[in-house]
Amino acid sequence: MLSFDLNGIGMTSRRTRGRLIDRLRAKGITDERVLEAMRMVPRHIFVDEALAHRGYEDIALPIGHNQTISQPYIVALMTQVLFSDASGSVKRDSVLEIGTGSGYQASILAYMAKKVYTVERIFDLIEYAKARIKALKIRNVRIKHDDGNLGWAQQGPFDAIIVTAGAPGVPDALIEQLSPGGRLVIPVGQGDAQKLIVVDKTSAGFEQSDIADVRFVPLLRGTLGG
Ligand code: SAH
Repeated sequence: MLSFDLNGIGMTSRRTRGRLIDRLRAKGITDERVLEAMRMVPRHIFVDEALAHRGYEDIALPIGHNQTISQPYIVALMTQVLFSDASGSVKRDSVLEIGTGSGYQASILAYMAKKVYTVERIFDLIEYAKARIKALKIRNVRIKHDDGNLGWAQQGPFDAIIVTAGAPGVPDALIEQLSPGGRLVIPVGQGDAQKLIVVDKTSAGFEQSDIADVRFVPLLRGTLGG
């Protein structure tokens, strides 16, 4: 049985998290719903115990299997972009994430949407992610072991899709599983040259823009374990 110390590094955890929120605000995160979600989810339980004391630094950290939990600023930025459009902040009920990893981004999304579906290719990571999400009493996240390049057709279409691994291009299945008016956020490119791309499905077709330079672990093909 996996267990997590929700107080973790003790009473300082909430205060330290508050400082991270201040930093995110200073860096341009303005959506109060995103800041509140980041305040609610204790990031230190999503990293190895030995690294828990660094859980609120604004840096990516290892989560095993050569994977990383993204930098909090990038999590906040992608979430803010995913839940907005040209007019500002918007509601999106059903969200698909590709690349569950630690389960941190999925937990943030759980505070933003009614239903969160997340797909991970490494079986071992799923077990830990599930246990953490359960420990936080989050009940609107479903996890599937599969190749995220395929999306999750049975649960689609989705109002929002977020990919948290760097892809060579936008997978066709994800475009197909986007609702009208929906938005997809995905890092595209190889190695250091990735761009965070936003794709909007409009009545006229698709609109694409890039919003930041980013660096993610690669979106691979197929599954591992299970
Ligand atoms: N969102 C995660 C961090 C993701 S790291 C978090 O909050 O912790 C990227 C993740 O994408 C890794 O766990 C990796 O195994 C996964 N991944 C890579 N290619 C994938 C694919 N084709 N399908 C599903 N998951 C994939």
